[in-house]
Amino acid sequence: MRKRYGGRPTLSVEEARERILETVRVLEPERVPILDALGRVLAEPVVAERDIPPLSNSAMDGYAVRGEDVAQAPVRLRVIGEAAAGHVCEARVEPGTAVRIMTGAPIPEGADTVVRFEDTRLEGEWVEILVPVSKGKNVRPAGEDVRAGQEVLSPGKVLRPQEIGMLAALGRTEVAVVRRPRVAILATGDEVVPPGQTPGPAQIYDANTYTVSALVRSVGGIPLPLGVARDQEELVREGIRRALEARADFIITSGGVSVGDFDLVKQVLAAEGEMRFWSLNMKPGRPLAFGVVAGVPLLGLPGNPVSAMVGTLMFARPALMKMQGFTEWPWPTVRARLLDPIPSKDERRHYVRVVLRETADGYEARLTGDQGSGILNSLVLADGLAVIPEGITSLPAGTEVEVLWLKWGKMP
Ligand code: AMP
Ligand code: MG
Repeated sequence: MRKRYGGRPTLSVEEARERILETVRVLEPERVPILDALGRVLAEPVVAERDIPPLSNSAMDGYAVRGEDVAQAPVRLRVIGEAAAGHVCEARVEPGTAVRIMTGAPIPEGADTVVRFEDTRLEGEWVEILVPVSKGKNVRPAGEDVRAGQEVLSPGKVLRPQEIGMLAALGRTEVAVVRRPRVAILATGDEVVPPGQTPGPAQIYDANTYTVSALVRSVGGIPLPLGVARDQEELVREGIRRALEARADFIITSGGVSVGDFDLVKQVLAAEGEMRFWSLNMKPGRPLAFGVVAGVPLLGLPGNPVSAMVGTLMFARPALMKMQGFTEWPWPTVRARLLDPIPSKDERRHYVRVVLRETADGYEARLTGDQGSGILNSLVLADGLAVIPEGITSLPAGTEVEVLWLKWGKMP
């Protein structure tokens, strides 16, 4: 393995991500029905208004009794009533008496202990307690789960199914979470037509709008696809204007950021806004622009479909997650042995598409075939992106590398 450092002084993936994250802000809260809050970030403290459970109640089906009466067994108690869940029992347990009680029913006045049915025998209006039972047994005290006034959930919490259930248990129907970012998505290129239209002989269908929209949606954003702008400065300008009119919180374009004659996004960004960077030390996706237009961050992806997707994953995903209040955006990774060599590469960080296989001694990674940035099928076949570090110009088969999983439709 040969290592060479100190290649082109372009921005690393990490530096670029840092610059983008510094630019984006956490969005404001909105109130949503509790089920719609799943997977989102809580934007208010949630305080219990009452105890859960509100009254002390039985953990078992059995008899509510006074602890002193059942300290020794066997003993016979007179059954004076019944307590059902959801009803306050009118009967009062006096010495020598018991109330039949169901799980969840409030403990009747005078009682402090429940003897489960299995430890009793009923004879007419008398119940025989067969074993001694300690005072307080099988009683769930009021507020044992949650106390009135307690802050049960704090701002910043990512709401999972159990938190949604807790909101319901607290009687909430709505909750404040950080709102989702609206993401305008603009494709560019004379050669690009939307699916549904008839392409000319030299035209291709617009894949990027859909890859990017799907990724945006999978990380919780709201995609606003704006269609395809032809390769004319005025039309790209107009597309960006429409993005701003649509109240986009973030703009993603594809195509038109390299050094070709028609690479207009860069020019428009420089003219209309502020360009922060446009070249990265990564492959696929070296020409990748980032800037701000009218206060809205704009990510200018390269047009090649693999570059567009990798750029969205590396940069739009963390940015959109930060905007939604997340403070981390972990990505499951595995270590895997490369089955194919990387015979020669340039100095950039490479993201290589691989198929993973689990074996008795760890994961194996095989290239999905041609790694050209126009080969969308290399992503369709992939289970993950193997990270080939910058500075390394070749890797033999058998080298262990880090692989970012791409296993799920819903991104981590
Ligand atoms: P560009 O970055 O505009 O130079 O485009 C690079 C390559 O990506 C060209 O081969 C384009 O035809 C292709 N391309 C650009 N936009 C799209 C798109 N929306 N869907 C699929 N391919 C595209
Ligand atoms: Mg183009």
